[in-house]
Amino acid sequence: VRITAALAFDNRAPLRTEAIEISEPASDEVVVRIVASGICHTDLTVLDHSPLPWPAVLGHEGAGRVTAIGSSVTTVGVGDPVATTFNSCGICVNCAQGFPAQCLNFTAVNMSGGRRTDGSCSHSIEGKPVFAAFLGQSSFATHAVMKARSVVRIPEDFPLELAAPLGCGIQTGAGGVLNTLRPRPGSSIAIFGAGAVGLSALMAAKAAGCTTLVAIDRSASRLKLANELGATHTFEAKDDVANAIRSVSGGGVNYSIEAAGAPSAMQQAIESLAVRGSALLLGIAPGTRISIDPMMLQRQSLTVKGMMMTEGTPRVFIPKLIELFRAGLLPYDRLVRYYDFSDINSAIADARSGVAIKPIIRMA
Ligand SMILES: [Zn+2]
Ligand SMILES: [Zn+2]
Repeated sequence: VRITAALAFDNRAPLRTEAIEISEPASDEVVVRIVASGICHTDLTVLDHSPLPWPAVLGHEGAGRVTAIGSSVTTVGVGDPVATTFNSCGICVNCAQGFPAQCLNFTAVNMSGGRRTDGSCSHSIEGKPVFAAFLGQSSFATHAVMKARSVVRIPEDFPLELAAPLGCGIQTGAGGVLNTLRPRPGSSIAIFGAGAVGLSALMAAKAAGCTTLVAIDRSASRLKLANELGATHTFEAKDDVANAIRSVSGGGVNYSIEAAGAPSAMQQAIESLAVRGSALLLGIAPGTRISIDPMMLQRQSLTVKGMMMTEGTPRVFIPKLIELFRAGLLPYDRLVRYYDFSDINSAIADARSGVAIKPIIRMA
């Protein structure tokens, strides 16, 4: 099948929209007509730094409709509206226990490039392979062929263009709070980084009943938005912000989340905690280190944890995120800015500059 995809030809190069071919779905795969795709900072990190075999199709926050299914697929049918998310093997011990984002084969199944175990390729251009199935999806295209495990059926009456970022950014931020930290009502939380992940965490923390919600960011406009979404205190990112957080939270917060991808913020997220507090590190900061005083952890019974994507099953959690949105408890449409598919390079530029918190490109 002939499709249109935004192809990356090199690190940091602009994407070029071109016609490529996708194969028929294998028995465990589906074809999705992509209606919209979010742009996530992981797309940009990979585009800038990863030595991929070019050309490549990125994009891992898709939504659309199923147009074809493989012979063994039973979870979705042709015509179903779906959000698309990461892939997982389905058989390892973590998949079996309901933690597919912690799949022991995560890299193998999410960075396969679209090469199947029989050696065939899902995507090609003029007979040559195109690197695809990126994080299970490659959603910067009009269509994608992917494993059925990567698609989650969503309600017929939910807007597909708004469903796109549920598969990564919103799932990560809200999941970090609702599935991992599980804060007690009346507790306090500090969130470092008011991007799509941090603000999703903030909304989820408010929905979960946190009553002291502190947001920290470099951008005054993002802190203003954090206020509107429920932050009770906001601070500009600076060296002594942990002291300020401790002073407004009665000696420290019960929970903290780092979603800025900055080692200094990770350090501060730990230093802001109250006795028995928990810090969750979600930001991506490859090649960096942080230093932790073990005596501080011991004296204060602190927990420091890392996580990617979510600790839960997308097929369970994504419909819950939609319910929270509909109940007015997760108004993540406030983070979204839409772009036409042909303007994908402007959307990427706005994601880099911070002009757009969650850019979503629309294919149709
Ligand atoms: Zn992502
Ligand atoms: Zn697995």
